[in-house]
Amino acid sequence: MSKTLPVQKNDYIDAEFTDLTHDGAGVAKVEGYPIFVPGGLPGEKAKIKVIKVNKGYGFGRLVEILERSHFRVEVSEEDAHKYGGCQLQHISYEGQLEYKKSQVEQVLTRIGKLDNVKVHPVLGMEHPWHYRNKAQVPVGEKDGKLVAGFFKPRSHEIVDTDESLIQLPEVNEAIQTVKEICSELGIKAYDEQTHKGDLRHIMARYGKQTGELMVVLITRTAELPQKNQLIEKMTARLPKLKSIVHNINSKRTNVILGDKINILWGNEVIYDYIGNVKFAISALSFYQVNPDQTKVLYDKALEYAGLSGGETVIDAYCGIGTISLFLAQKAGKVYGVEIVPEAIEDAKRNAALNEITNAKFAVGEAETVIPKWYEDGVRADVLVVDPPRKGCDEALLKTIIEMKPKKVVYVSCNPATLARDLRILEDGGYTTLEVQPVDMFPQTTHVECVAKLVLR
Ligand code: SAH
Repeated sequence: MSKTLPVQKNDYIDAEFTDLTHDGAGVAKVEGYPIFVPGGLPGEKAKIKVIKVNKGYGFGRLVEILERSHFRVEVSEEDAHKYGGCQLQHISYEGQLEYKKSQVEQVLTRIGKLDNVKVHPVLGMEHPWHYRNKAQVPVGEKDGKLVAGFFKPRSHEIVDTDESLIQLPEVNEAIQTVKEICSELGIKAYDEQTHKGDLRHIMARYGKQTGELMVVLITRTAELPQKNQLIEKMTARLPKLKSIVHNINSKRTNVILGDKINILWGNEVIYDYIGNVKFAISALSFYQVNPDQTKVLYDKALEYAGLSGGETVIDAYCGIGTISLFLAQKAGKVYGVEIVPEAIEDAKRNAALNEITNAKFAVGEAETVIPKWYEDGVRADVLVVDPPRKGCDEALLKTIIEMKPKKVVYVSCNPATLARDLRILEDGGYTTLEVQPVDMFPQTTHVECVAKLVLR
């Protein structure tokens, strides 16, 4: 069968890249047969080696670039360890924003069959580095010392990282310091192979507006070794620390966090502000990782909601109530729903903290709770959804179509499921007016979008 393919494994060919995949690899076509090559950029010509051929597509390795894109930037060997998670490190920021816009347009057309939707230029950052307020890094051992950083692509080897270029300096410092302290105290890193050792991950989260730091230590064991010395050293060396949390994950799994938490020291939450709204954030709750761009995203969601004061709003997938409370300031009443109980506790606390009395929160699946509200006579004028990567459940979309809110604002971290869900809503009577991508994750392939839909 492979005889019919235009290339064979181990062939060296001169290729021209015409596109990028959703995970940032260059696409070169040989007689219509696509070959995906990490590192290749549209407009570039390169010598590549074919390393794998499947029936419909193949993979290649970049051997030599023959003609360069003006979007290409160089990353030195020396700095490579700082770029963990930066799949677009070889593309200038201008190029990244163009790539993201074109990804959104392509997916809306291909999956959503939405040819005429206006996709605005991506709202990017002025300084697209050191933005993440949170990191959770795997811990391992090398030459008797602890290492922490990121997994080398397609391997289980941890690249020890002293500074990540996409994390806030305070987050880098926290991870670094905790790693050193654990090393000094002889704490053993967890070993995936043998399922032995203790420390699996170190997580740090920082409230950029308040300067409050939380560290979460994730261990296999219920007992945290050297607990008292750990606390003593951490509080002495990390003056911004407000909370130390112990999370226990005793399973053989690559899921990072377990369900059980103990507050080891300080508060159960840290605080942060988005705009003028104050938020309490606990260890297990979702909180957007790019605080500056979160404001941009929520402002856009608020603009698309177009509230005048009396509306009833539903915020599905509300997390700790961030969007809900943003909207509550301009709405009659807001109902938020979220699956993680701790997040809803935070949401209620956040409403009280900001003296917002017109927001109500419920724990549960959006696709179960909102149909129930609908049965009980709740009717929303505006409905906001902000689902995880897999998008909205069909039962929820069905209820939206029956409830007929005048406007739907769809916040999405995955253009593919956004496109799929927009198609269902279009077929159910909605028109997508515009889509605004916001760059929440510079240097990575991730794209966040807000879409505005109106009932026809
Ligand atoms: N709007 C929030 C959270 C968005 S992240 C913010 O901007 O901060 C998506 C949230 O959906 C997470 O908090 C996750 O716990 C929650 N979630 C996942 N599946 C859900 C479901 N089926 N029903 C309700 N919430 C869900």
